[in-house]
Amino acid sequence: MTKIDAKYIFVTLKRGFAVIQSLPGFKDILPNETRKWQFVENICRDIFESFAYQEIRVPILEKAQLFSRSVGNDTDIVQKEMYTFKDKSDQFVTLRPEGTACVVRALIQHHLIHEGMHKFYYIAPMFRYERPQRGRFREFHHLGVEAFGESSPYVDAEIMEMNAEILKRLNMDVRVEINNIGCRKCRPSYTKVLREYLMGKKELLCEDCQRRLDTNPLRILDCKKESCKKITAFAPSILDYSCDECRNHFNEVQRLLTKMNIDFVVNEKIVRGLDYYTKFVFEVISDKLGAQGTVSAGGRYNDLVEDLGGSPTPACGFAAGEERVIELFDYKEDDKFVDAVVIPVGKDTSDFSFLLTGDLRKEGFKVEFISSGSLKSALRKANKWKAKWVLIIGDEEIKENTVSLRDLEKSVQKKVRVEDIISVIRQGLDE
Ligand code: ATP
Ligand code: MG
Repeated sequence: MTKIDAKYIFVTLKRGFAVIQSLPGFKDILPNETRKWQFVENICRDIFESFAYQEIRVPILEKAQLFSRSVGNDTDIVQKEMYTFKDKSDQFVTLRPEGTACVVRALIQHHLIHEGMHKFYYIAPMFRYERPQRGRFREFHHLGVEAFGESSPYVDAEIMEMNAEILKRLNMDVRVEINNIGCRKCRPSYTKVLREYLMGKKELLCEDCQRRLDTNPLRILDCKKESCKKITAFAPSILDYSCDECRNHFNEVQRLLTKMNIDFVVNEKIVRGLDYYTKFVFEVISDKLGAQGTVSAGGRYNDLVEDLGGSPTPACGFAAGEERVIELFDYKEDDKFVDAVVIPVGKDTSDFSFLLTGDLRKEGFKVEFISSGSLKSALRKANKWKAKWVLIIGDEEIKENTVSLRDLEKSVQKKVRVEDIISVIRQGLDE
């Protein structure tokens, strides 16, 4: 008989019903992986909070126009990737593809700056209808921060310092690429030159980029197609068209990065996949992730708050893709999730064992109570869960006010008086 690997059975038939599978690009994060996720999230939380960022939680669903007005009508995200649909009251809503626009909406709606809140972080799922592949999912998670109200390069430097700190704490080998994409004053002159340069090569560009030539030529620099990349490789540099203000800002950020010993290279082709950026932008890239090499990205967006109806407020932020961070970060898996297992074996020992389990939990131990089955199967479970301690309680133990305490790591077992259990577990059993 041919052996069929369960992995390749996409839809299994069971009692005549198709077993429902998750959607393509949507992943379950199972208990043997969540520990790694928690580890990464705790490190990021620690770092964000040490830089005085506060957590914000915004809705997953927003009005569709929030993203077309901020991310930009001509971006891949808005053109192709958004989960947009009409809800039951006939309004277009979108599963958020990114967090910045949502945080800006909340900032304006709740007058957060007046309330003394100006630096935010979030660890949250995002949704984009992309082709699922390594490092690219339809539901993925951003570890993101947004800082409002400061145009000083120290904020940009702080954003980079947080990135460097995350990379250091997770021991990841990456490179940092930065660029200056100018502002509304200086960018139009570059856009004009870029359009003129690309006009002569229009027929060599992909269909999307041919359209972008009219609507938003800068987007062409972000095209992932090799044929377009070949053409843009020799395009004029945006850095040559920068105004003094943008150039000074960029120089200052570079000076601070050097002072902080953060290595970087300037890549004048980085424009980011979203329209709202101004001045400083960056990407943190790994060579170990295949085609999806960008782990973290962000920059300044000085006009977005005003564009979404708020008062002019400079801002800067970034988001790291948690799935890509998780893939890069080498975590020593520890599948131990209980310290002790309590097993009642006598006729009338369950209530006592159950209450003792509660006492141990209150002392901070992770404890599982096994309420049924044989001693043999309970011990098998304790081994599988890598518990150090097993507490076996039979009729005899109840009579003697003791517990048979077994150390599974050292393979020793002793009877211990009930009142001594906690201190013995803390100190260890004598052999
Ligand atoms: P890419 O060029 O890889 O499409 P992007 O420019 O669309 O990235 P951003 O919108 O800046 O990405 O999001 C920041 C980070 O979020 C990316 O650098 C990446 O790590 C992660 N990310 C973006 N899209 C996805 C996705 N579909 N699946 C997993 N991670 C993603
Ligand atoms: Mg993308």
